[in-house]
Amino acid sequence: MPPRKTSPSEEGPKPRRRRTTAGSKEQTRPESRRTTKPAKEEPEAQPQPRQGSQRREQPFLELVDETMRDAIRVRDPQIAPEEAAAALHRLFEWQLPSPEHGAALVKDIGPARAQAIVDVALRDEPTPATVALAADLALAEGDPDTAVDRVLQARDLVDHPYLRLRLARSREQQGRVVEAVEELRDALQRDPGVEEAQVLRGELLARLASWQAREPFDCPCGSGQAYRACCQATATQLLAEFRDGAPLQALRAAVVVFVERTPELHDFMENALREWAAELELDLDAGDDDSQGLFQLSAERAWTTAVDGGERTILTDFSADKEASPEQAKMAAEWGRWKAWGLWQIDELGEPGVLLTEYVTGTRVYAHMAPEQRRGLRRWSVLLGCFGPVNGIWRPGWGLVEVDPAHARTLALRVVRFAEWVARQGDSRHQLVVDWAQHVCHELDERRWLPDRAERVPRGIVKTARNLVSVMLASLVGEARGATQLAQGPEAADEPVPVLDDLTLRQAAGRQEYADRLEVVLRELEHHRASTGQKPAVGDLRRELGVP
Ligand SMILES: [Zn+2]
Repeated sequence: MPPRKTSPSEEGPKPRRRRTTAGSKEQTRPESRRTTKPAKEEPEAQPQPRQGSQRREQPFLELVDETMRDAIRVRDPQIAPEEAAAALHRLFEWQLPSPEHGAALVKDIGPARAQAIVDVALRDEPTPATVALAADLALAEGDPDTAVDRVLQARDLVDHPYLRLRLARSREQQGRVVEAVEELRDALQRDPGVEEAQVLRGELLARLASWQAREPFDCPCGSGQAYRACCQATATQLLAEFRDGAPLQALRAAVVVFVERTPELHDFMENALREWAAELELDLDAGDDDSQGLFQLSAERAWTTAVDGGERTILTDFSADKEASPEQAKMAAEWGRWKAWGLWQIDELGEPGVLLTEYVTGTRVYAHMAPEQRRGLRRWSVLLGCFGPVNGIWRPGWGLVEVDPAHARTLALRVVRFAEWVARQGDSRHQLVVDWAQHVCHELDERRWLPDRAERVPRGIVKTARNLVSVMLASLVGEARGATQLAQGPEAADEPVPVLDDLTLRQAAGRQEYADRLEVVLRELEHHRASTGQKPAVGDLRRELGVP
């Protein structure tokens, strides 16, 4: 059994037990039950077929057991609210529940029990988790004013991106969309990787963009003023900032100059380009757009590749350079830290941005893409390349190679198989990667892989997968290009590729090129039906269409 299954999945990320000086309730618990294991040692405690493993597993299993019991204490109506509140605090003392998680919990235990738990917690000793639950309860009951108060109260106890996200949601429910976007902007500048904040910012920016197109008269924030005299100026500024690719362009220009005047880096870059050209059979002097784009992609990869086998890259050298401006040094460090190589599936081509899901890891970002980068793209297109944040706003790198969904699946499978192979060479700490890779391979093989429905992947695995795409880039690009050239051959060109939307479902089911996509649609439908508690009629639909 994969280790992640042993933690109570309904509680999301397994809470790490760390003793804190803040929670005084901790001290009333027997010491023996508070056995603490640092997070990085956990994989050692996974089941391993060797002598003595039984004893090594013990603390880990106890921890799982205890966590399960706490999860039950929160939910069991027979358990007093006082005890449930303490259990809630223990479950989330290390990592707060996300707003989605909190909302699901409120739904799960019912508003009455949530209220009882919140009441005792607020009366006795408020903890970040219980106050956050109070905010989730208020939001569920359509009371954003109380939710705002609660989030601010929780923020006095701890500053956490999930609290900023809750505040943004509460502001949005109040109608104060501009303030919500500002809150998300702050949160994402500090941690560009909070997916829920990315997705919510996308939704809210789209709303601001629609107001720009069709101006409301009364300000939606409820101030009673005209929109023009109230939130419009800030909204315009937030949209302009999101759409402004100039800082990233300026950074690129500055890095090019930096590399030119640093002989070691110049040589490194030259070698990287030569190897790239050899591997992809490109002419180094070719001036056509296609080759230029591929060389840019190579340069971009070279910027974040280890220069001497250690931690040094062109971008880390640049950000440490005395002549670099502090803003550009910061941007270079941010890009270098968060750069995300992958197969990016376009979920929504919206305005002002694009919602993307990375095909291998299922991570999502809401990114800005310039009009020339969006040309020819459609929903479900997959882009092989790099996205990265600048001041918390995600943007694509220079070169992106478009891949059709069926080939993206093949490429993803190669990445995941390689990840498994690499992880097997390591020690038992890499077992998590092996388990994850086996799971994804299985789903991909069975054509059941849905990146946007996949279980949340730990950040360590995400980072590994992204690095592997960077390592494998030349061969992935070669394969993607080979596939593209085949698809654009003379026979294929004679018959225009139909748009899925124009086909009936039955027609689509009969076409090989849409079978994968149909599977996705059916699974989304199943997922939706299940989450709304409706009878799953998808089985009937499958039979009707002749799809297994
Ligand atoms: Zn306003």
